[in-house]
Amino acid sequence: MPARKKRFECGHKAFGKICRRCIYLENERLRYQRMQEQKELERRELEAIAKELGVNPAGYRKNVLLKAYNIVKQIREGAPFARFNWRLLKAMGQREIIRIKVDRCHRLIFRVDKMGTKFLELLTHERYNTRLASGGWLD
Ligand SMILES: [Zn+2]
Repeated sequence: MPARKKRFECGHKAFGKICRRCIYLENERLRYQRMQEQKELERRELEAIAKELGVNPAGYRKNVLLKAYNIVKQIREGAPFARFNWRLLKAMGQREIIRIKVDRCHRLIFRVDKMGTKFLELLTHERYNTRLASGGWLD
């Protein structure tokens, strides 16, 4: 006698003792849920990073935020500026100000004085140029 399809409690009809379709759907649901949780975790992490950098997370791409944060972290841990694409803005009248290029369009600003090294801000190169032209980061 050939095996017959059986109707499960869930309503699906198939061969076997358990409904594979329901198992598949449940696995998919869990996979989706884990993905959503992962996304939420990343979103919160990025938000915390943006806050640390003093910027609105919506205004910067994820890669820029992560790279900028990584540089700030390394500098705070004592890495030399020479490790990055840096420049002392002394010639521009910004005696204690150092800028690091995050990428083509983004800059990090630090102040280095007898109090130590302090991260000031992350900005786009347009805002950087405007700021520099209008007095820079002098107190
Ligand atoms: Zn089922």
